Order: sequence, then C-alpha cells, then structure tokens
Amino acid sequence: MSGVHPSIEKGWFTERSDEHFPGQGFSLRVERILYHSRSEYQNVLVFESTDFGNVLVLDGIIQCTERDEFAYQEMIAHIPLFAHGEPKNVLVIGGGDGGVIREVVKHTCVEKVTLVEIDKTVIDLSQKYLPGMSCALNNSKVEIKLCDGFQFLREAAAASSMQKYDVIITDSSDPEGPAEAFFQKEYFELLKAALNPGGIVIAQASENVWLNIKYLKQLMRIAHSVFDNSNYCYTTVPSYTSGQLGLIICSNDSQVNLTTPRRIPTEVEQAEMRYYNADIHQASFILPTWADRMINHRN
Ligand code: SAM
Repeated sequence: MSGVHPSIEKGWFTERSDEHFPGQGFSLRVERILYHSRSEYQNVLVFESTDFGNVLVLDGIIQCTERDEFAYQEMIAHIPLFAHGEPKNVLVIGGGDGGVIREVVKHTCVEKVTLVEIDKTVIDLSQKYLPGMSCALNNSKVEIKLCDGFQFLREAAAASSMQKYDVIITDSSDPEGPAEAFFQKEYFELLKAALNPGGIVIAQASENVWLNIKYLKQLMRIAHSVFDNSNYCYTTVPSYTSGQLGLIICSNDSQVNLTTPRRIPTEVEQAEMRYYNADIHQASFILPTWADRMINHRN
C-alpha cells in the first residue's frame, strides 16, 4: 500500500470539481485509510469515513459510500428493470462494487446477469470492505467477465451470433480514465446493437444539472441521435458532487414507456427497496424549468 493520498489533507478527503467549478469541493473526514494503491487501470483508495461508512474512490472521484450508495444503485437498476415488461437477460458494464448486481437479482424474472468489469482490484476490495454492496456477486445468476466493457460490446457486435440483452446498465466511472469511451456515440450504437427488441439501456451521466448542464445537453444529443426514445432522469446522492447524478435512459422501441414503471405490491416495494418506488421513478424525470428547457429542447 503506497503513502498518503494526494486528496487527503489534515484528516479530510476532498473531491475537487477542478474542471468546471475550480472553487468547489466536497469533503469527508477520514477515520483511517483502508487501502491505497494504483491498479493497472486507475488510482484506488478505500477509506473509513466518520459519517459515511467505508468509501471507494477511483482517480480521486468518490464512487460510493456505504451510507448513501442505495440511492444510486436502486435508481440505475430499477428504473430500467421496472420500465421493461419482463427483463430476463441483463448486462452490467462496470459496477465492480456489486451494488447494481445486488439490486438486479432482486427481480425474480431475471434469469442471467453478466457483469463486465475492467478492474479486478475493485471487485476484490469491495468483497473485503463493502460487503453490503458485493453480497450478490456470488449469486448463481451472475457471470463475471474481467475485461473492457467497450471492447466486450465491440467484439460481441462482430461475432456471428450476438448475445442480446433486455436491459443494459452502464455503471461506469467518469469519462476521465478507463470509462472515457462510454460517453461517445459509438458506445451508444454498440448498446443499441446489443439489445433485444423492446430493450432498455441506462447509463450514469457523470454530471448533473447544477454542475455541467451543457455537457448533459451534449450527451443527450448523442443519445437522441442513436435512440429515438431517450430521456434524462436523476437520483439524489449526497456524496456525489452537488448531491445529484444524472442518468440517461433509452429504448430501441418508441412504444416503451420509460417514465412509467410496471407496478408491484407496495409491501414488496417497501420490503425490497429503500429509495426506489414507482412514484419516485416517475418523479425522477421531472426537471426544474431551466434544466428541462436546456436538456429536453432538441434544437
Ligand atoms: N457508482 C459509481 C459512480 O457513478 O461514480 C460507479 C461505480 S464504480 C464501481 C465504476 C466501475 O467501472 C469501476 O469499478 C471501474 O473499474 C469500472 N470501469 C471503468 N471503465 C471500465 C471499462 N472500460 N470497462 C469495464 N469497467 C470499467
């Protein structure tokens, strides 16, 4: 384990928004550093915080904290899975912490989940320090492939008989680093090619309306250029910069209603999930006036 992390000073970890808001940062007090090293792909830090439990940081960016991770995992998993009529075959790209997988396997209709993670270090560290997230990685429905998600889809598209999915969830890190390709048009085209009819894809947008709305508009333009049926929704996560994270959701079928979920009994919903419910699914697509104009105005 190498020395003190450059983002930790006087016992506080700070994620700085250098690119868009050089005057803004988010800090957590560090109780102790659990792991810090450079993997083959990225700088990896795990620390125990005073109030947010254990925290996973990749290349200086918070990926998840034990306190609020469910707000992200539940929304990125259940919005597409409940918008779909009956998802059976699911692909998760990234997501080595296992949080999204934990949510996907709650759907009894799902028969198989493939996780494509580039960095085994993330999986190993999550199994050690984030057991509440990684708990379903050994589920019999889950197959783990250790490779680049973009290459995985490229090779799948070139194969004679291509495996197709009902739902594809891109649970990646931000565009600076190994996840860069996930924010480009070719990736959306590969996603579309890998979907069954009526399929749905969702991706974390790495930004939110407060932080970089112009970038979101650009990303939505790319999504719209590939999928006629595409939309923007968001979740609130205190440990992500500005407390919000955008999600881009698209279907290859214009009849699929992305904003209205399949209903399940309220008791089941409340027993299985802490953040997601059918009302918040619909509400997550409603934006403040200025943001709606910027993001959803297509000219
Ligand atoms: N919830 C987080 C967020 O939005 O900040 C993201 C979860 S984190 C576990 C993202 C994962 O994507 C990391 O484990 C990282 O190694 C993985 N990843 C990054 N680039 C990848 C690629 N090209 N192929 C597959 N996985 C990738």
